[in-house]
Amino acid sequence: MKPIHLIPLGAPSRPGAEPGLDLLEYLAAALARTFRTPCQIRPETFDLSFALDAGRQQYYSTAIIQRLERAVDPDARVLGVTASDLYVPVLTFVFGEAQLDGNCAVVSTARLKEEFYGLPPRQDLLRERLLKEATHELGHTFGLRHCADWRCVMTSSHAVERLDVKGAEFCRACKKPIFTNGYW
Ligand SMILES: [Zn+2]
Ligand SMILES: [Zn+2]
Repeated sequence: MKPIHLIPLGAPSRPGAEPGLDLLEYLAAALARTFRTPCQIRPETFDLSFALDAGRQQYYSTAIIQRLERAVDPDARVLGVTASDLYVPVLTFVFGEAQLDGNCAVVSTARLKEEFYGLPPRQDLLRERLLKEATHELGHTFGLRHCADWRCVMTSSHAVERLDVKGAEFCRACKKPIFTNGYW
């Protein structure tokens, strides 16, 4: 299986656009266990300024994925991680987006933080939500679509409440194509 590269996404003109290193380190270790492949944090920050929609004050996730695909190592599976809010034109926001059966995915921690909802920070909850969202988007890069099993990480979740009830792992049916079909 290809290794996973985590790429911090930042914007030079906007401090705080990129995720904290401790959070990335946690994520890298957890993803390596889940996908049974090395996962490293790339040392360079990828500038996502080009994807900013000034009116919405959000970044366009599809544009980020397309740019990442051209810029990164094709022999790795790539997950961009940002603290900034993401969108696609038809939706108010997205937690993340991925190329179906591709190489690249992107996730945002913006709406995974309790602070976003006016609540006190919860680092444990942020880590858990980020791992679920990252695992879900990477699952799409293995060609997986949404799963009907509500416990499976591939079930769709458009709100943090839904993220919190599902598990961080793939159900048996979703696990199978990842670990048997050609990726290994
Ligand atoms: Zn999905
Ligand atoms: Zn499933």
